[in-house]
Amino acid sequence: MAIQSIRLFGDPVLTTKASPVEVFDKELRTLVSDLTETMKNAPGAGLAAPQIGVALRVFVWDVDDELGHLVNPTLDLSDELQDGEEGCLSFPEIRYETSRSMRVVAKGFNMHGEPVTIEGSDFLARAIQHETDHLDGIVFIDRLSAELRKAAMKEIRESEWFGSATAAGQSPLIKVSPHSTRGLGI
Ligand code: ZN
Repeated sequence: MAIQSIRLFGDPVLTTKASPVEVFDKELRTLVSDLTETMKNAPGAGLAAPQIGVALRVFVWDVDDELGHLVNPTLDLSDELQDGEEGCLSFPEIRYETSRSMRVVAKGFNMHGEPVTIEGSDFLARAIQHETDHLDGIVFIDRLSAELRKAAMKEIRESEWFGSATAAGQSPLIKVSPHSTRGLGI
């Protein structure tokens, strides 16, 4: 297991659609454990493979003390929505109210290639939607209204990290706050 550096917004891997996993081998299991280790170290509540520079459809989460991972996910979203602050390990210190579905049924595979179904609501549903977006090259600021996105871009351009593209071995600083994402980037 190894902690990888987290790619920051501006790195092209974050806006690239990731490829499905085709071989469920030892390399995939190493990827899942690297993602888990890197997420816990940050610390964060979720991390997708593109965030460590691997363009494959895999992500992990750590929500309510439950670790999980999903490979090649497809999502079924509720019409009911939730609002709450959202952040991302690839956007240190940037947090905005982001609308998401309240519930999700995610189908995919575990790292051994066995089919799994994950049902989540509230924060787990938010994390799964956020991470699945990463696999499609979509980042959370893409989900904001035009007005909020403009404000976010201004804050990002003025941030210390913007332009560095990778954290280059150092963990981004994530502020802990008592909001619905529990202060953790995802
Ligand atoms: Zn993210």
